[in-house]
Amino acid sequence: MCIFCKIAANEFGTQFLYEDENVLAFRDLDPRAPTHILIIPRKHYENIDELTNADPALVGELFAAASSLAISEGLTGHRTVFNTGESAGQSVFHAHLHLLGGRSFAWPPG
Ligand code: AMP
Repeated sequence: MCIFCKIAANEFGTQFLYEDENVLAFRDLDPRAPTHILIIPRKHYENIDELTNADPALVGELFAAASSLAISEGLTGHRTVFNTGESAGQSVFHAHLHLLGGRSFAWPPG
């Protein structure tokens, strides 16, 4: 079972900032911004491409959770990111949306 499937199965007692039937959110272990939250589907998909092909409505659910978390975290601006593939920096192969905020961000990203 992948690490995020284990988190979804509550094997580590992770605190969920948001949860519903399909979606979970929790803080990143190694935050890259004052607010850094991961929003994941409970069901395993390797990356956002696989998830979009299988269940496009679920992509919208992940972004709806991110929007609601941005408000509850009091963010005035935020960045949402899916890294897809090792060359783009994906290190956990269970689709996850990064919600980052609480600081300024450069563009283009590194
Ligand atoms: P990515 O590099 O886009 O695949 O993002 C994976 C993210 O998962 C990284 O930001 C890691 O810090 C984070 N991460 C890995 N393991 C855990 C964990 N057990 N709990 C919370 N975040 C994790």
